[in-house]
Amino acid sequence: MNKFDYMEKYGYEQLVYFYDKTTGLKGITCIHDTTLGPALGGTRLWNYASEEEAVLDVLRLARGMTFKAAAAGLNLGGGKTVLIGDATKVKSEAYFRALGRYVQSLNGRYITAEDVNTNTHDMDYVSMETSHVVGLEGKSGNPSPITALGVFHGIRASLKTAFGSDDISKFSFAVQGAGQTGYYLIKKLVEAKAKKIYFSEINPGHIARMNKEHPEVEFVDPDKIYELDVDVFSPCAFGAILNDVTIPKLKAKVVAGSANNALFDEDKHGPMLKERGILYAPDFVINAGGVINVYHELHGYNADRAIRDTEKIYDRLLEIFAIAKEQNTHTQEAAKIFAKNRITTINLMHANYIPR
Ligand code: NAD
Repeated sequence: MNKFDYMEKYGYEQLVYFYDKTTGLKGITCIHDTTLGPALGGTRLWNYASEEEAVLDVLRLARGMTFKAAAAGLNLGGGKTVLIGDATKVKSEAYFRALGRYVQSLNGRYITAEDVNTNTHDMDYVSMETSHVVGLEGKSGNPSPITALGVFHGIRASLKTAFGSDDISKFSFAVQGAGQTGYYLIKKLVEAKAKKIYFSEINPGHIARMNKEHPEVEFVDPDKIYELDVDVFSPCAFGAILNDVTIPKLKAKVVAGSANNALFDEDKHGPMLKERGILYAPDFVINAGGVINVYHELHGYNADRAIRDTEKIYDRLLEIFAIAKEQNTHTQEAAKIFAKNRITTINLMHANYIPR
């Protein structure tokens, strides 16, 4: 891969390699676009098979964060850090403090947070060396309940568009995964008196928890979740589950859940869902509650404000669905158009000279 060609093609700003001699910390930070504000994105620790794989991952993830922040109405750009290493071996106070120093060296152009294989405890070490870190213990806290809240409102907007009513009590649901987000989502659906809820899981502890707390929520075999005769399929387990094999099985008219990168191939499976008359709530819009929540840490955390902001996912999705209809395109594409429009408009709005 020619990195500069790739950066030029997709409009990247910066790709930074770093290596700490003391701890062996090896990583790459990517800043995709800072038109709207500092680039925010978590730090992922992964035992990448090659440097090439790590670079591609950080590039792809940083660009995804630009769209996510823009579509969520935040004054943030997109960025990401990947650390190359074995999470079971490399972690230490010094390792994460060394990371903090590299984050600090970007002088606020990039703000980090936890991601795969890093947690709030690790970020506490990062925060000893930089103030450009969010998602800390005792601040915005666990993002999952608020992510689930955003998904709940996103489901309502999807129902309104697909069926003309956002009254949860009229509809049935199949939720894939009752982990951090699926669990809280199911609780909201139960509270809103959903007509019927099914869930699938592979973790016995999570199945038992659901059976105990909500025996009316019916467990189904993980392989059977796609073909249930329900109104909404809600993927809340892992990515790439909307693909050539699963899409033909779906009977639901709405697909809306927390899972990141739910479409195996956006350009193929976005249109495939559209052709089958299935309304898909774009992942990076519907699951933005967590990033909206940490964003509020930057301005003095206030839970009520973060919740109110997350509820706006409802209106954003209605707008995105309208764009998809107007432009006769699939909803994932419409969400990108929506995000790019905001970046362009805010950029142009800043073009006049106002002394401050
Ligand atoms: P999680 O690991 O807590 O929950 C996922 C659950 O899915 C687990 O309980 C797991 O046992 C279950 N699962 C795994 N394989 C399964 C299968 N084949 N069938 C059914 N269930 C299966 O993760 P989470 O935090 O709830 O995240 C779920 C998705 O949402 C991920 O794609 C994540 O990236 C995305 N997401 C999460 C957040 C957040 O705030 N947690 C924010 C944005 C996006």
